[in-house]
Amino acid sequence: MNKLIDNFGREISYLRVSITDRCNYRCIYCQSEKEFEFIPHQEILRFEEIVEIVQEAVNLGITKVRITGGEPLVREGIVNFIKQLRKIDRLEDISLTTNAFFLSEYAEKLKEAGLNRVNISLDSLQEEKYKKITRGGSLGKALKGISSALKAGLLPIKINTVLIRGINDDEVEDFVRLTLDRPLNIRFIEFMPSGEEVINEFESKFISVQEIKEKLIKKYLLDPVKISTANGPAKYYQIKGGQGTIGFITALSQHFCKTCNRIRLTSEGKLRPCLFSNTEVNIKQAIRKLARGKSEGFLRKKIIRDKLKEAVRLKPEGHKLNIKNQENLSFHMSRIGG
Ligand code: SAM
Repeated sequence: MNKLIDNFGREISYLRVSITDRCNYRCIYCQSEKEFEFIPHQEILRFEEIVEIVQEAVNLGITKVRITGGEPLVREGIVNFIKQLRKIDRLEDISLTTNAFFLSEYAEKLKEAGLNRVNISLDSLQEEKYKKITRGGSLGKALKGISSALKAGLLPIKINTVLIRGINDDEVEDFVRLTLDRPLNIRFIEFMPSGEEVINEFESKFISVQEIKEKLIKKYLLDPVKISTANGPAKYYQIKGGQGTIGFITALSQHFCKTCNRIRLTSEGKLRPCLFSNTEVNIKQAIRKLARGKSEGFLRKKIIRDKLKEAVRLKPEGHKLNIKNQENLSFHMSRIGG
């Protein structure tokens, strides 16, 4: 059985795939309000190229794939793409991260196509504030999307909430209450240094999830729990009698690099071993150089596997980023895929 093991003994079993850099939202912590230059269409990986890469990744031991973006549901052909991924033997888990704007129309179709579950980004439960954070988004659509995902059985549903001091940290308890009567798993995520505007005030806007947890512990009895898909960085808790869980992801205040099991594939076809390092391996260039054809099939597969192994070899032991040090980092989450 093949395995991708990096230089620090970590087994890489999780691939995050960004299928587009385009998004219908421009969240304040993610994208610039200014005109944003999108990657030209021909530079974006085609679905069949992604399927080929995922197939080889699975041959090397990847078992989980998360589809992200940009907003993955704005890319045409998404349902058929999920169907193609589902055909890959030994790919155990296919999930998708979305702002849920289009989810009510897609949930059933995605489930039928073979998607296992969704993560939904939701940073406010107040209409006006939601609009402000997403720069024009619809809270109503997101909530409807959540209901549709529950109904379609895209479970477990994780709700990702990026906390920004002075913006949405006053809503923590409202989010926590969402876990009482529905099986929703709320995850509070530390704001990371990207997004041109908010980054200037990063230190003052950053809020550690530890601070939030301490406040919550004073008010609620939080029992530690395990959830079936939780081999990622979040630690989960439950309020007694609640149906859902509450998770905390500490990307900056406490690194989880030691247990990091993932690499990323960007929408323009680069493998990125660490979100916080600009090192990338250009897999698209390598495969597009080759003609497509029967005789090249074996070679294509080998080149894809070699590039995946190279990316894993280049995975750094950890990132040095902290609240005060965001040097040498230039990234747009929407391009890489958060
Ligand atoms: N459009 C989809 C969505 O909204 O979920 C998928 C792409 S989005 C880039 C993926 C995740 O990255 C979202 O949960 C978002 O909150 C997170 N994200 C983007 N910028 C971030 C930042 N500066 N800090 C923390 N999380 C961030």
